[in-house]
Amino acid sequence: MSRALAKLARLKREQRLTRMSAEERDALERIEVEAAEAGAEFRYPAAARLRPSTVLGVLRRDGFRCKACGGQATLTVDGAARNFNGLDTVCAACLDPKEGDE
Ligand SMILES: [Zn+2]
Repeated sequence: MSRALAKLARLKREQRLTRMSAEERDALERIEVEAAEAGAEFRYPAAARLRPSTVLGVLRRDGFRCKACGGQATLTVDGAARNFNGLDTVCAACLDPKEGDE
C-alpha cells in the first residue's frame, strides 16, 4: 500500500472513530484485546461498514479462528450479509488466496 493510501485509510479510520458511539468504540477495543489474548491477528474489514459490536460477536462465536481453515493469521470477517448470522470469521489466505502469498 502506498503512503498516500495508508494515510487516507488512517484518516478514514479516525473519521469513523469520531462518529462512533462509546459502545462501538469499546467493542473495537475489545476486538483488539481479545484477538491478542486468543493469539489471533485481526484486520478490520476496510470496505465493509460493519458495527464493531457485530464483528466482536462473530469473532467470539467463531472462537477467533478462520471458519475455513482454523487458522488465526490475519483474520477478518466476511459474508453475504452485514449481520451476525450472515458473517463468518475468515483469514486473508482463505478470503483471497493471492493475498495469502504476500
Ligand atoms: Zn483460513
